[in-house]
Amino acid sequence: MAQAYDVIVIGAGPGGYVAAIRAAQLGFRTAIVEREHLGGICLNWGCIPTKALLRSAEIYRYMQHASDYGLSAANVGFDASRVVARSRKIAAQLNGGVAHLLKKNKVDVIRGEARIAAGEVAVAAPSGKPREPHNPPPKNALGEGLYKAKHIIVATGARPRALPGLEPDGKDVWTYFEAMVPAAMPKSLLVVGSGAIGIEFASFYHAMGVDVTVVEIMPQILPAEDAEIAALARKHMEKQGLKIHTEAKVTALGKAAGGIACTVELKGGASEKMTVEKVISAVGVTGNVENLGLESLGVKIGRGVIETDGLGRTNVPGIYAIGDVAGGPMLAHKAEHEGVLCVEAIKGLAVHPLDKSRIPGCTYCHPQIASVGLTEAKARQEGHEVRVGRFPFIGNGKAIALGEAEGLVKTVFDEKTGRLLGAHMVGAEVTELIQGFVIAMNLETTEEELIHAVFPHPTLSEAMHESVLDAYGRVIHM
Ligand code: FAD
Repeated sequence: MAQAYDVIVIGAGPGGYVAAIRAAQLGFRTAIVEREHLGGICLNWGCIPTKALLRSAEIYRYMQHASDYGLSAANVGFDASRVVARSRKIAAQLNGGVAHLLKKNKVDVIRGEARIAAGEVAVAAPSGKPREPHNPPPKNALGEGLYKAKHIIVATGARPRALPGLEPDGKDVWTYFEAMVPAAMPKSLLVVGSGAIGIEFASFYHAMGVDVTVVEIMPQILPAEDAEIAALARKHMEKQGLKIHTEAKVTALGKAAGGIACTVELKGGASEKMTVEKVISAVGVTGNVENLGLESLGVKIGRGVIETDGLGRTNVPGIYAIGDVAGGPMLAHKAEHEGVLCVEAIKGLAVHPLDKSRIPGCTYCHPQIASVGLTEAKARQEGHEVRVGRFPFIGNGKAIALGEAEGLVKTVFDEKTGRLLGAHMVGAEVTELIQGFVIAMNLETTEEELIHAVFPHPTLSEAMHESVLDAYGRVIHM
């Protein structure tokens, strides 16, 4: 007879494993099915290994600029295989950490590929080979078979989207999978798409000495970010030597001696031809909605993602979806939060649906970018009369002491109510700073509380305070 659970989660990424742990904490008999790696894209091929690579790039950059700090570092160089090995070791460590957490919380791990049919989850052997490097599933993992569940949570994540004519081949045209584990640094690289994933890889490879060109079809890089912040980030990146084309698109790719011949249609219609060693396609991701039995159950799917209410419920009772497969913003922290809300709602606890406008977004390039809430343009579009504050890092003592004086904090307030509508930052460590504004927005803070809060000195966070002061004509250090 099929084993019976209260909750089965399909997919052990940050959405799935967090949902499973929370479900177990709430007393549900819980299992999680994973066909490949515990920790999903985030821990194995996304958030964490990129940050490990970017950390190597950051230290390399500091070493190259050692003399700016009165230091000397001779023969600065790197071993690409060890940079990648460090990143893989960290991914493996966290993958093992997820196995430990699931065991500790008494969540059964089922290894295989899941498909749903009428209250049952059929688990078959994975259809593809696990991507290498691969960590084996936990020793006590259950295997193929039929498993019953009252509640089935789909957390199957997303995969790279492919544009016609720009299909990744794993060799010359990479996705993030290949870009994460280069056997050696290419001499030159074309990155197509300047969302967070494209820009992080562009920043990493450029720092490692690769000749990088970024092509973006939209008028600005990081199209979801505030235009002023994105323009400033672009200026700093171009100053470092990155080549960036916006309102441009790749129109042809072909084999050439020494690499791939690319034709790029530039803004205004002119064409530029270039030959690069590798191309990274970073044109977005699409939900893993196929082969799960969702169509025959009648689960509504739109634009490659499963449609849900604010609490992960699909239109079919007992079937839920969270994380990337349930739509944007496709971020790990959004997936985790949705996982918790979904199981707490199943339990009957009082939960607040997720307010997507308060989900922060971070890009860990150099300089870093972080934001929460409405951009200035969006705030105006939504009919707000806005008050905007700005404070550059050059006015912040800690930024200067760090040798990181390039940056800006921009705050957007509603003129009538003083409510903080959005905060946008570019500069060192802003991905760590943004949480201050996230908490402020969740507390529905107005300028009053922010002005009266005491910020420690000397910290980069003082630039946040000064940005608020600037919005109200009270800036001190500028
Ligand atoms: P996933 O992490 O994709 O996990 C889904 C899991 O489901 C996978 O392990 C998959 O094998 C499994 N699965 C799928 N189908 C089945 C099936 N039928 N049966 C069994 N198992 C199945 N986000 C951030 O917030 N911050 C970042 O810095 C960041 N950096 C990123 C960098 C890169 C290069 C990439 C690619 C992504 C990055 N992201 C980042 C996005 C983040 O990785 C995703 O938003 C997050 O992983 C989504 O979590 P998830 O649980 O929805 O799905």
